[in-house]
Amino acid sequence: MKRWNLAAQLDALKRQQLYRTRQIVGGPQGPQLVIDGTSFDNFSSNDYLGLANHPEVIAAFQKAASEYGVGSGSAHLICGHSSEHHALEEELAEFTGRERALVFSTGYMANMGVISALVTKGDAIFQDKLNHASLIDGARLSGAELKRYSHNDLDRLQQLLQQSSSDKKLIITDGVFSMDGDEADVKRLASLAAEHDAALMIDDAHGVGVLGGTGAGLLEQHGLNQQQVPILMATLGKGLGTAGAFVAGSDALIETLIQRARTYIFTTAMPPAIMAATRVSLSLCQQEDWRREKLVSLVSRFRHGAQQLGLNLMSSKTPIQPVVLGSNQAVVSMAAYLKDKGFLVGAIRHPTVAKSSERLRITLSATHTESQVDSLLSALEGAMRD
Ligand SMILES: *Cc1c(COP(=O)(O)O)cnc(C)c1O
Repeated sequence: MKRWNLAAQLDALKRQQLYRTRQIVGGPQGPQLVIDGTSFDNFSSNDYLGLANHPEVIAAFQKAASEYGVGSGSAHLICGHSSEHHALEEELAEFTGRERALVFSTGYMANMGVISALVTKGDAIFQDKLNHASLIDGARLSGAELKRYSHNDLDRLQQLLQQSSSDKKLIITDGVFSMDGDEADVKRLASLAAEHDAALMIDDAHGVGVLGGTGAGLLEQHGLNQQQVPILMATLGKGLGTAGAFVAGSDALIETLIQRARTYIFTTAMPPAIMAATRVSLSLCQQEDWRREKLVSLVSRFRHGAQQLGLNLMSSKTPIQPVVLGSNQAVVSMAAYLKDKGFLVGAIRHPTVAKSSERLRITLSATHTESQVDSLLSALEGAMRD
């Protein structure tokens, strides 16, 4: 029963500084977060626009809960697809400039469902090595052959496409990379896809809300339409501050997913109140440009200060600002030091990121103040001195 000695395996994780624990949050998400009764400056969430605790979003949630109750009662294809789900889908299609959109319960499920609905054994998938775990798992589930290229190495992708004998090819990449904050070259990806008769899928979980004139993400920023990028996926639990995910594209794509995406079909629909809350956060996202402008200015303030301290930043223009420290030990002790000073930052270790690139993942939100950013920089300076 040695294989089942879970306690010994857990001990091994602890020795490698890989043991994960949860912090118990005692209040709403925001620039401050309460953990075990103590308030911290929060630089670790994905609530980039600060909408997770917005009073209008909360009011919409409460109103819909009193009209629809809480549970959706069933899957979408039985009797769980409410008028709030339907209206949000129409608004997301309009927002992203696509024919239609389909809401999934989580981003993880959307990726698993989309990929396995569209490709199968004998087909080929091409993915960036830094893609989100759900994209990798979706590819595995599909049974298609998975080829991975080094991060943003589109010359290598081109080679792989040329070498592939499969006649059904699907290229998949994160739009904004979740742990690095940098962006995929979506323009070149779109032309490679066209050249090689491949479909292109962009997971813009960290771009939607944050990038583009109305917050529709990386594809809006680069003016790429449904023809050029036929499969757009994004989540609702990050920039939009609620929960769930969606896929946007042609009518035929969405109908195919309704027929074939098992993570859409065989699961209970999200509560209608989440959809109602998201409709309001989507409208705030589109109307309140100041949130994106504020983010741009906080990002540049942080980067400027961090460069002066000589911190090892990555080439990210987004609110995801990693500081590479290079070992699990260094990341764990730096995060603990910062927590002791009242700051929460993500401690990202191997195997989430490659060995020697272990990092703090600092994220900015439109609801942070400049002085909060300055205090974080002082704390980082202190950490380097101490
Ligand atoms: C967070 C994330 C997901 C998963 O979305 P959830 O709604 O949290 O399940 C998928 N892709 C990327 C790139 C993400 O960052």
